[in-house]
Amino acid sequence: MTKAIDTQISRRSILKAGLAIAAAGIPLSARAQQKIAQSMVQYQETPKDGKECDQCAQFIAPGSCKVVDGKINPKGYCVAFTPKS
Ligand code: SF4
Repeated sequence: MTKAIDTQISRRSILKAGLAIAAAGIPLSARAQQKIAQSMVQYQETPKDGKECDQCAQFIAPGSCKVVDGKINPKGYCVAFTPKS
């Protein structure tokens, strides 16, 4: 009997948590999204062929990136470089 009650409470808690996240209006893709490790995109602290993070559409001033994890140098570079349009 106790086990059945615990299971019911647990399911109820999970359902409430899910509803709270949905109510917050956070898109599922944003909640599940994780940034890529710097090593996976060959991030470096210096520009390459005139391309640098502060010219990239993914760069977030002063020192982060929409897609790559960790501190990003505005003068850095990685293979995910995307020119600003
Ligand atoms: S070059 Fe790479 S690390 Fe730099 S802002 Fe663009 S995607 Fe991010």
